Amino acid sequence: MKDTLKHKGMRNQLANLLVEKGITDRAVLKAIRTVPRHLFMDSGFEGHAYQDKAFPIAADQTISQPYTVAFQTQLLQLRPGMTVLEIGTGSGYQTAVLLHCGAKVYTIERQLELFKKTNLFFKKMHYRPKKVVFGDGYKGLPEEAPFDHILVTAGAPELPKALLAQVKVGGSLVIPIGENDQIMTRFLRTSEKAFEKSEYGNFKFVPLLENKN
Ligand code: SAH
Repeated sequence: MKDTLKHKGMRNQLANLLVEKGITDRAVLKAIRTVPRHLFMDSGFEGHAYQDKAFPIAADQTISQPYTVAFQTQLLQLRPGMTVLEIGTGSGYQTAVLLHCGAKVYTIERQLELFKKTNLFFKKMHYRPKKVVFGDGYKGLPEEAPFDHILVTAGAPELPKALLAQVKVGGSLVIPIGENDQIMTRFLRTSEKAFEKSEYGNFKFVPLLENKN
């Protein structure tokens, strides 16, 4: 596993492209310049790692497009030390970006193969999420709630009801909602009882699947 100056150069170019596409958060851009995305993909696909594209990983899933990762992270308006629950660990790339922004990250994955693989990878790379959980993110993680933010990285056909209750007042739930493509949606919790909903355009994610058993 190598990270070279060439990779760093490609990351800088990617970050510059994300600036052109409207990403302004300095911590997010710094994370994009730092996290070696090529190591989160199977070897042999290095050439694709610093294009602004989603890419297949194990278990028919995808590593999200860098722009999407940056956009979702920017919506959280993170400050160091905030807690974030990520739903859909996948390759772990989004997790690493959150960690680089100083968040305390809890992350859930429902595909056993990916959960095992990415958990090992975190250890190898010395990434330290607070918890990496195998399970159904539809339910959130009630035993660790509330969180400053919840970030869903798969397309939710509808809003999973359990999640809003696990967000702190002042915090947010960022979730792409829709069947075939999704509208990026943020729910800001303005009080115990009230949420302010904003929509941020169309994205395309692999589906958020609910465990039926
Ligand atoms: N954040 C990831 C994106 C992976 S794609 C990355 O940066 O690579 C979305 C992931 O969500 C997939 O790995 C998929 O298995 C997972 N997923 C789908 N439904 C889920 C659920 N109900 N609970 C937890 N993870 C889920």
